[in-house]
Amino acid sequence: MGEARRPNLLVTGTPGTGKTSFSSLLAEATGLAHINVGDLIKEKKLYDGWDEILECHILDEDLLLDELEARMAEGGKIVDYHCCSFFPESWFDAVIVLQTNNSVLYDRLTSRGYSGKKLENNLECEIFQVLLEEARESYSPNIIRAMPSDTIQDMNNNVEIVQQWLQARTPSL
Ligand code: ADP
Ligand code: MN
Repeated sequence: MGEARRPNLLVTGTPGTGKTSFSSLLAEATGLAHINVGDLIKEKKLYDGWDEILECHILDEDLLLDELEARMAEGGKIVDYHCCSFFPESWFDAVIVLQTNNSVLYDRLTSRGYSGKKLENNLECEIFQVLLEEARESYSPNIIRAMPSDTIQDMNNNVEIVQQWLQARTPSL
């Protein structure tokens, strides 16, 4: 028998909730591979134009899915992205939605240089729990887990929780 495929995790949430920080810490702790989808899109130019209002590239979803497919089949990936509805449901064993208090998120996004419409859109996205809703529409409720991401303590707790889940699921980890 070959080795069991290690689980794939999706880490999603509004920009600024801490997906990349959490994913890299989790990758370090577990040996899973962190895929920063935003970086991958830029690096491989997987876009199709520029959105003037949101000030971001318009993603070419098909190119991205093609790019990721073989890696996801290998297993053991942490996919870090602020969107989750267009990934195949079968890719993920767990979907983590990070959540941040609005005043904390405001500070993080302004210090990242966000302002105007872009800042407003992202804060609204968090207030209305858009990513949690999107996850619920796309994945089975029993694999979705919303986690607070206000403090470093939260981030460390979340790593611990996911590690325990991984160990319970695959005792050889
Ligand atoms: P995302 O990838 O979701 O856009 P980042 O991981 O880039 O978010 O984090 C945005 C900012 O918030 C960074 O400056 C990071 O250091 C900080 N940060 C992220 N998560 C936390 C947390 N749980 N507690 C405190 N600061 C955090
Ligand atoms: Mn990020």
